Amino acid sequence: MSESERIYCANCMRCKLVQTEADNGHVLRVRCTAGLWKKKLGEEKLYKYFTIARRTPDECEFYEPMGDLKEFLKELKRSLPVRDEVITHQKVI
Ligand code: SF4
Repeated sequence: MSESERIYCANCMRCKLVQTEADNGHVLRVRCTAGLWKKKLGEEKLYKYFTIARRTPDECEFYEPMGDLKEFLKELKRSLPVRDEVITHQKVI
């Protein structure tokens, strides 16, 4: 499957960026608002923001692409942090 045919959750309308509390600030997480990301016991699973480019399901009936995938991926790879970053309270806008 070529990159342009692949499903990237990052390019899906239902993939949302959220902040969750950490010990000394906030961390960025992503959630699927269609509820498709689950832990083994069934609770919702959030992924670390910096891993979002790796979420590429083989198929998804709820996939709602947001725009040109090639451009989007280029921009995402340029701007995505390389590790989990804690946003201290001073940095939160
Ligand atoms: S709806 Fe499907 S493609 Fe969209 S974020 Fe959820 S799992 Fe990914």
